[in-house]
Amino acid sequence: MAAVQPRTPLPATDHKPSPYTGPSRDEMLALRRQYINPGIFTFYKEPLPIVEGHMQYLWDDRGRRYLDAIAGIVTVSVGHAHPRIVQRVREQVGKLSHTTTIYLHPTIGQYGKLLAEHFPDGSDLSVTYFTNSGSEANELATMMARLYTGNCEVIALRNAYHGGLQGSRALTAHGAWNFPLPRPAGVLRAACGYCYRCPMGLEYPSCKMRCATDVEQIIEHEGPGKVACFIAEPIQGVGGVVDPPPEYFKIVYDIVRAHDGLCIADEVQTGFGRTGRHFWGFQNWGVVPDAVTMAKGIGNGAPLGACTTRPEVAKTMAQKHHFNTFGGNPVSMIQGLTTLEIIDSEGLQQNSLEIGGYLKERLLDLQKQHRIIGEVRGKGLMLGAEIVTDPDTREPGTQLADQITEGVRERGLLIGRGGWYGNVLRIKPPMCITRQDADFLIDCLDEVLLSVG
Ligand code: PMP
Repeated sequence: MAAVQPRTPLPATDHKPSPYTGPSRDEMLALRRQYINPGIFTFYKEPLPIVEGHMQYLWDDRGRRYLDAIAGIVTVSVGHAHPRIVQRVREQVGKLSHTTTIYLHPTIGQYGKLLAEHFPDGSDLSVTYFTNSGSEANELATMMARLYTGNCEVIALRNAYHGGLQGSRALTAHGAWNFPLPRPAGVLRAACGYCYRCPMGLEYPSCKMRCATDVEQIIEHEGPGKVACFIAEPIQGVGGVVDPPPEYFKIVYDIVRAHDGLCIADEVQTGFGRTGRHFWGFQNWGVVPDAVTMAKGIGNGAPLGACTTRPEVAKTMAQKHHFNTFGGNPVSMIQGLTTLEIIDSEGLQQNSLEIGGYLKERLLDLQKQHRIIGEVRGKGLMLGAEIVTDPDTREPGTQLADQITEGVRERGLLIGRGGWYGNVLRIKPPMCITRQDADFLIDCLDEVLLSVG
């Protein structure tokens, strides 16, 4: 892959990467092709080897540095190899690298307490079940909702992503991710609030929020008239950074609760300060869920997920045995606890607000100059730019998005892709990104947009 010198250089860093002495890129690729399940796909025409990371930067096998503007898919929240995390995880691994929750160890409870303190006062969201992934957390949350309400139906949104396991795949209403297999019963899919491509063919606000009010019809006509829960991402991530009109969640939550259901917020991408103004994504919409699921940014790279609910909902789990060997293990717990402490002590939510706001402004400026940016969406450091071939027809610019992603990579910038058509550029960097990084990112995009547009 040719390296192109970008117009604006990547901001300097003090970090000196160690010389890489492992297998070459071609050797890595050959091993991967022979021994690893091909369902585990890679990004880019020429897959990129990543061998070291420090804060918002990554290095490849040849020592080339990149700005990581997708954060291991919205996972590295406080920075790669953050020194405080490295130190505390090292200490923990050296002392006790594993024990299960059948014994007491200090960190799980301390971490549960700190997490509970991050929920809005009066929400009673205080009791957590730790898992190893977002898929597990979502399966647990919907199971608890079913047990608590005695109802079966779960409402999920089209264009949502909630996981890749049997149960969570049923909540993932995104054809590209759905294998041709029977899905578990009891899941109904409602339209999402995606105004740029309104699934109902309407326009906001004359639509009178049909996407939201339709949930009542779905509950009353497609199931027994009662539901266990509604689960949604406050901003759809994999679906292409889709944020609904401001009143959407309030309308749906009211309908769901009137039909005896619980409301679950999947905060796997939106949580932990990423959206800037608020710690949780749901707070942007003025609602309070009954359960919150988390993963990715919660652990800055640890295999860690969680579901936090009210005590009365959590109690349903105690009626039978339930166990997760690695859920709540001391290493993940110390990494999660330290990540949360860093988010607070380093003011990273505030940084998401400031740098995210600046990035969004600059993306909106870019949109004025480049017709192929159809829409800029998102909040804080969860941003998306939808690429189209023509802003009037809104024809998805999937190939253009591909060229842009490759073009910025050549210049040392890693971004993500998403959306049903794969035409949404996703910008979700570690929350420690600086204004200089933001300038580099935008100038890089500008340069590539000029060459493809
Ligand atoms: N929910 C959301 C919103 C996600 O983006 C993802 C992962 N992309 C998941 C759940 C599933 O998380 P995991 O891959 O950790 O199972």
